[in-house]
Amino acid sequence: DSIYDYIIVGAGLFGAVFTQQAVKAGKKCLIIDKRRQIGGNLYTENIDSINVHKYGAHIFHTSNREIWNYINQFADFNNFINSPLANYNGKLYNLPFNMNTFYQLWGTQTPLEAKAKIAEQCKKYDYITHPANLEEHALKMCGDDIYNTFIKGYTEKQWGRRATELPSFIIKRIPLRFVYNNNYFNDTYQGIPVGGYTPIIESMIKGAEVQINTDYFENKTYFDSLAPKMIFTGRIDEFFDFKFGKLEYRSLHFEHERLEINDFQGNAVVNYNEFDVPFTRIIEHKHFEFGTQPFTIVSKEFPNEYSKDSEPYYPVNDERNHTILGKYKELAKAYGNISFGGRLAQYAYFDMDDTIEAALEVARKEFKFIK
Ligand code: FAD
Repeated sequence: DSIYDYIIVGAGLFGAVFTQQAVKAGKKCLIIDKRRQIGGNLYTENIDSINVHKYGAHIFHTSNREIWNYINQFADFNNFINSPLANYNGKLYNLPFNMNTFYQLWGTQTPLEAKAKIAEQCKKYDYITHPANLEEHALKMCGDDIYNTFIKGYTEKQWGRRATELPSFIIKRIPLRFVYNNNYFNDTYQGIPVGGYTPIIESMIKGAEVQINTDYFENKTYFDSLAPKMIFTGRIDEFFDFKFGKLEYRSLHFEHERLEINDFQGNAVVNYNEFDVPFTRIIEHKHFEFGTQPFTIVSKEFPNEYSKDSEPYYPVNDERNHTILGKYKELAKAYGNISFGGRLAQYAYFDMDDTIEAALEVARKEFKFIK
């Protein structure tokens, strides 16, 4: 007989939600993670009372009441509303694109004035019927000013390629809001867990055995022998030994810095939209929890090419990768005892609410209940 009912590879959000449900169903679980800590990309580290989002800013938002109620069992959420700023050539603008942004760009005051201005800017690009790349697509949708100020440099830094070389589907639509409203997300529920995300993951996996610093691939046969079923949230290409090739990623690196001032930028998130500024944003963590410490911690976020020493962050959604992914998914079907879940095994970008929903769905199939 096996020691455990389930082995869960990856102690990120997906693995933790599944584990929580499994323990609740009375199952014996072992959850392992190759990192030095649990939490995956949600991991927050409490540094002198400031919860630092070590793998990038995470703001919880959802319109799904069931998911909101679920996550609220594990933390109290504050009323943080994400309203990032954009810095371009030393001037600040509100995001997402709304009446404040249009006023800052052009001085337009009413929705009618702003719409007329945008229509005038787009008219020049009416001749583009089939945009061949991201630049043409964006110019057609919003014209020169919005494109050059906010989209071009930022996107080129993010993807490490010129906008004329990027496929247009990276930006499906450009949301333009004709009200004075800087709330970045459209969702009904939004907030930051008081105390950070790590305690949420800790309480989710309570009752399971946990091993960190433990790479599944270094001892695959051993881990396979421990339980009849597995939840795998690592990379799907790695699971199959990269036999159809590597799936590509864009990566990020963060430079964290403590400053002996109480407030650096007066906001949690400030984007830097010029191409020549090498980072895409500066996060000031204390503002997520309305901190009043006499010092502050800021993180600069630099996009870069993925290499084996960096973290895989964003899947590259192009044809080559999709074809390869399809082949791995086909192979995965033969593994009836393994559920491949989460952002790395699905090779997709999922927000936290989507991740929870997907993990609950897997649990529901296994245990036929949800609490
Ligand atoms: P992960 O968190 O990556 O967890 C997978 C875990 O598996 C990792 O801990 C990894 O170490 C482990 N693992 C991998 N391979 C192995 C192995 N071989 N052996 C053992 N362990 C292994 N979502 C929002 O809703 N709001 C936001 O504001 C938001 N901001 C984001 C910002 C950034 C920069 C990024 C990249 C994502 C953001 N997200 C946000 C999305 C959010 O991070 C994901 O929804 C969530 O982290 C997915 O959880 P996961 O468990 O699938 O993956």
